[in-house]
Amino acid sequence: MTRKLTEEAAAEEGAGFRSGFVPLVGRPNVGKSTLLNRLVGYKVAIVSPVPQTTRNRIRGVLTLPDRGQVVFIDTPGIHKPKFRMNRRMVSLALDAMAETDVILFMVDVTQRLGPGDRFVMRQLRAAGIPTFLLLNKIDLVRKDALLPIIDAYRKEMEFAEIIPISASDGTQCEHLVDVILKHLPVGPAYFPEDYLTDQVERFLAGEFVREKLLYHTRQELPHAVAVRVESYKEEASLVRIQATILVERENQKAIVIGKQGSLLKKIGTEARLELEEQLGSKVFLELWVRVEPAWRQSERLLDELGIRAS
Ligand code: GDP
Ligand code: MG
Repeated sequence: MTRKLTEEAAAEEGAGFRSGFVPLVGRPNVGKSTLLNRLVGYKVAIVSPVPQTTRNRIRGVLTLPDRGQVVFIDTPGIHKPKFRMNRRMVSLALDAMAETDVILFMVDVTQRLGPGDRFVMRQLRAAGIPTFLLLNKIDLVRKDALLPIIDAYRKEMEFAEIIPISASDGTQCEHLVDVILKHLPVGPAYFPEDYLTDQVERFLAGEFVREKLLYHTRQELPHAVAVRVESYKEEASLVRIQATILVERENQKAIVIGKQGSLLKKIGTEARLELEEQLGSKVFLELWVRVEPAWRQSERLLDELGIRAS
């Protein structure tokens, strides 16, 4: 993990300024991306009703002038490995926890504590790092339903803090930030104040395309797609982006393209409009579809897509 100290950051290193890297773990769909988006006020990770859409380690940086900087790591979730890709995700997530002072373990209060949560908690206990239990989606349950839930988790492991929140309406989210800061050591800002994410815009471009793609094809190809941004060029009056949608089979390619290219066109338009809004610039987006058989198993391609085990 690079911890670059910029000049502005060094200047900010006053007394009491706290900073650290804070992984956010938990089962798919508990609301990790929603919280991250709320806290850093920027769409760094896509939010989708399909589980496991966040495949990369995306950091959001929250800087509170004079108080501190929290570098959030939205991990893909440390769930049981199935495919090779998922095994890499597990090691990525565990790796992300190695140098941290606090880990946020998020659960969904509308779901029962299950084997997936136990699996995650086993990793957390082994890591031995202070862990916050974030009980998310409290907007969906009655207050008195929380106590038995808290008890159930407490039986599994010891938590440094237990904080009920609602990532979607913001309840207790400011309090959460206060408590996180308390647990972080005094230290420098790692990124400039206006830094939103250390993934460059081209990564966002790929994510937007993937988000639209998943939205429109979720019935037919749940996870068999990836998007590779081939080029990203900022020109005088527009940003020119070329991306390839990777599918595993010919029939999936046909689905993505649609009748006379209609779906591909729709995906392209929607992604472009969103990108233009995020980038504040005109965007020219060119999309290709390519069959890469069994890309999930391909280490080479995983590397190209930025999914790395270390
Ligand atoms: P992730 O897989 O853990 O990153 O979960 P997401 O952030 O993608 O959220 C999964 C779903 O839960 C989305 O439909 C969110 O809108 C929803 N969600 C997240 N947080 C809350 C919350 O606090 N309350 C409610 N009602 N829904 C939430
Ligand atoms: Mg997510």
